[in-house]
Amino acid sequence: MIMLVACILNKMNTIDLRSDTVTWPTQEMREAMARAEVGDDVYGEDPTVNRLQELAAERMGKEAALFVPSGAMGNLAALLAHCQRGDEVILGDLAHPYLYEGGAMAALGGIQPRTLRNQPDGTLILDEIEAAIREDDVHYPITRLVALENTHNRCNGVPLSADYIRSVGELVKKHKLAFHIDGARIFNAAMALDTPAKRLVAPADSITFCLSKGLCAPVGSVLCGSKEFIARALRVRKQLGGGMRQAGILAAAGIIALEKMVDRLAEDHQRAKRLADGLAEFPQLRVFPQYTNIIRFQLSDESKMKPDKIVAALAKEGIRIGHGGPWGFRAVTHYWIDDAAIEKTLAAFRKVFKD
Ligand SMILES: *Cc1c(COP(=O)(O)O)cnc(C)c1O
Repeated sequence: MIMLVACILNKMNTIDLRSDTVTWPTQEMREAMARAEVGDDVYGEDPTVNRLQELAAERMGKEAALFVPSGAMGNLAALLAHCQRGDEVILGDLAHPYLYEGGAMAALGGIQPRTLRNQPDGTLILDEIEAAIREDDVHYPITRLVALENTHNRCNGVPLSADYIRSVGELVKKHKLAFHIDGARIFNAAMALDTPAKRLVAPADSITFCLSKGLCAPVGSVLCGSKEFIARALRVRKQLGGGMRQAGILAAAGIIALEKMVDRLAEDHQRAKRLADGLAEFPQLRVFPQYTNIIRFQLSDESKMKPDKIVAALAKEGIRIGHGGPWGFRAVTHYWIDDAAIEKTLAAFRKVFKD
């Protein structure tokens, strides 16, 4: 018992900057979850799921929406609903579905990714997209879809502008392809650009966004598109084992995520800026440009410390940051990171670099 209490207290005292996926649901969400009206969603009879889907479709300016257990399933269901086996998808070499979804499009869809270099601003070069589109020839796979990511996680959380997305949309339309946006953090992009999310996704045929990141819901993403597209995606979701039953318990939190948690994302961006500015003062660190709630940084050449040591030393101070691969460190601000947590984090870095 004492150990359990100590464990919970320890978790509460930890400043967890590894990701915005670590966010717990708010008290208001927990209460709404407890009260949620439910039904069998595989029969289409869960009123709370239906309400979430209507709300999400409305926010994205699309005809219909589908609640899915994860962003990865949302992206996969979209790709499987758009593509046939052997089709090719054009996307960035730093795109989430290419790097971080277990090769699902190839493993489960027989879909071939055709990667183009992501520019530092998260975009793909329009001429390169056009050059990558295959001619109709039996030797070639059929180019079926272009996918973008907004905000772009691996490109320092940069938001992609409505103008750029519109130009990709025009190109895609000209070639009669489908257009998907992985908008896991689309509301962070909308906030940073002061542009409605609806406008950012208007040129796309489909869009996924996460309820379970900065918006704090415990589980879930939503895939949005035309009625006809969502009907196909519904079938795919069932094939993937993603049909949930009384999912209204989860959707109830998602409704609060959309209604209450979107407008406050500006706070996360302000705190991320404060943290990025503070980290940039350490000569031992090289901090990449910060745009939204994601801060990426590396050890500078002057530093003689090993990244693992830094992560471990910070953990001793109750600070958790992300670390892996050649890209270095990642810190992500979110609802449970307040001003004091930012100052404590900077103080912990001062201690670590002094010791
Ligand atoms: C988090 C994320 C996803 C989906 O992740 P899940 O963990 O499956 O919900 C998809 N794309 C991007 C860019 C993400 O950051």
